[in-house]
Parts: sequence; C-alpha cells; structure tokens
Amino acid sequence: MKRCYYETLECQKGATVEILKTSYRKLAMQFHPDRNPGDATAEGKFKEINEAYDVLKDDQKRAAYDRFGHAAFEAGMGARAGAGGNPFDFAGSFSDVFEDFFGDLMGGERKTRRGNRGQDLRYNLSISLEDAFRGRNAEIKVPTTVACETCHGSGSEPGHNPETCTTCSGHGKVRASKGFFTIERSCGACRGSGKIIRHPCKTCRGAGAVQKDRLLNVDVPPGVEEGTRIRLSGEGAAGLGGGPSGDLYIFLSVEEHPIFQRDAHDLHCRAPVSFVTAALGGSVEVPTLDGGRAKVAIPEGAQSGRQFRLKDKGMPVLRSSQRGDLYIEVAVETPVKLTKRQKELLREFESGSQAGTHPEAEGFLARLKEFWNGGDPA
Ligand SMILES: [Zn+2]
Ligand SMILES: [Zn+2]
Repeated sequence: MKRCYYETLECQKGATVEILKTSYRKLAMQFHPDRNPGDATAEGKFKEINEAYDVLKDDQKRAAYDRFGHAAFEAGMGARAGAGGNPFDFAGSFSDVFEDFFGDLMGGERKTRRGNRGQDLRYNLSISLEDAFRGRNAEIKVPTTVACETCHGSGSEPGHNPETCTTCSGHGKVRASKGFFTIERSCGACRGSGKIIRHPCKTCRGAGAVQKDRLLNVDVPPGVEEGTRIRLSGEGAAGLGGGPSGDLYIFLSVEEHPIFQRDAHDLHCRAPVSFVTAALGGSVEVPTLDGGRAKVAIPEGAQSGRQFRLKDKGMPVLRSSQRGDLYIEVAVETPVKLTKRQKELLREFESGSQAGTHPEAEGFLARLKEFWNGGDPA
C-alpha cells in the first residue's frame, strides 16, 4: 500500500504550496542520501518525499491526485517501476532539490521555469572487471515517451479533433471564490489540458504519447568502481508542458572475477606454488588483467602467504594515467596422490632434516611449551 502523498509530506490536504514546500525541504534535508549513506530506509523515504512533492507542487498533477488518488499516475509509473529484471528506477529529482535550496539561498531571483522538468531515471549497469579495467562502450535501451505517430500527439483518433473543454472554456483552470479569496485551480473536467477527447486514439489511448525504446551509447571510462555513477544530462524522462528533460544516471556494479580480487586500485591474485618450487626457489607464471602474463621469481624457502608486488599492473585510476599494483600471494600446495617411491623419498627427507629446517613449526612449538609451562606454575 502506497502512503498518501499528504501524509508523506506531513501536511493537511488543503495545505498551501508554501506549507508543502517548507515541509518538503525539511524532510528532504533529513532523509537526503548524502546525509544517510548506506541507509536504505532513508533512501526509500527520500524517494517517497520527492515523489509526493513532485506531484503536489504541480497544480495539474495535484488536482488529478486529489480526484483519483495514486491511480492517477499508475499507468505511467507502472511501466517503469515494474519488477522482473527491469533495470529502471526513478532516481528522484536530485537536481530539483538543490536548485530549490540554492535558488533561495542566493536571495531570490529565481529563474522562472516553463513546465515541469522530467524525472531523473536510474539505470543499473553491470560490467565485468575486465570492462572496468579497459573501459567500454555499452549500448543500453532507454524507454522514453515520444509523441504518438498515429494522432501526432493530439490524443484523438485521426479524423476527430479534441474539443475545447466547456467547463473552463479551454483555459485549463477554473476560479472559485471563497470568502475574500479567489482561488484558481486546475480544471477537473479536462485535467487542466483545456481539451476534451471524445474519440481517443487507439494507439496511445488518448495520451498523445507512447513509450518507445531508445538506444543510447554509454562511455564507461577505465577505472570505474562499484557504485560509480555516470550522469547523462537530459537523457531522463521527458519534461511536461515544455519543461526540460530529466537526467539519466547509470549506476555501475562490477562483477566478481574468478582470478582477481580488487582492493580500490590494487589487484590481488593467489598463485599456487608447488612445495618443491617454494623450497628450492624458481618462478611461476601469473596472469595479468590485460590478458597478458608475468613471471614472478620465487626465492628459495618462500612461505605461504608471502606477497610479491608487480608495480603498475593493477587497475587504472579513474581519469588519470596512474595505475594500481598487482599483488601475487604465494599459496604453497601440499602434494597429494603420492607414489610409494615419492613417499619413501619424503620420509628420507624428513629423517635428514635438522634444526632450523621448519622455522615456523619450531617457533610455534617453542611458544607452546612456554604457554603450557606458564599456565602451570608446578
Ligand atoms: Zn495517439
Ligand atoms: Zn477544462
């Protein structure tokens, strides 16, 4: 169940635009994602507040909401907010919040905006670590609202024309006197459009606009990280009544890699090394994320967990020519499936080993003795 927009903004149903705005600003400040990083509840609240204010600040939308409730917007919202792997979501009108704040802080002189700015959209794009390394040009499909081709945006069946609304004489607004005041509000009969459509176009059901996928190229630069946002200015939802389009935010997520683990700009890779190589020294070949190979020299007596750094073989740093490093961690492997002969050789090896052959085990044993004796004063 969706909360009532007035409840969301903690206002009465008849609240003036000023009251709504004051309350909206207070709540938007309180629940803004920048102030509540990682708090999903606050983020949800922030979206709710934005959505409620977006509707109630607008005469036309408010009139529609007062009359039809949430149902007034469901057709439009459901198309995008639906589940089922749809990567789209409303990002909330971030810029709107800040424009409002700054407009006021700068001491008035607000630019008068024609119409309503379209909503910001969010697109979740998942890329591989290789893509994050090299950068990539991704083609995405963005659903947008375009004028209906059948009726050329009029909303009426071809051959019919929308009629002028008789309630408001085509003004879209009606006046009502209440005591000393004359209140102008959006006309309910035509929902503020000034026109009545008697024969709705079958293609767009009278809306005058249809949803269409648009292909967009997104340039993902090398070095992006989980959560990096790319803003495509003006590629969000179309504005209403001649207003500018919203922005499209690409939210990136980087998939796990089977070989490399990322730590900011550095990469980590575990390289299994045979115990013979670890004991006698040698070299191992390791992969690099650019698809190449690198040789790492293993010194005599290398232990498990020892790290070797390959400078500048890590991730590129976003918008810079710098590179992180690649760390290779040695993992000494205990051999399995030994033949009888191999086992004999190992037993021979064991009997021949002297003090200092296994420094860690010897050190551990020494510490154990101390611990047990220390715990028992006898
Ligand atoms: Zn149409
Ligand atoms: Zn009307």
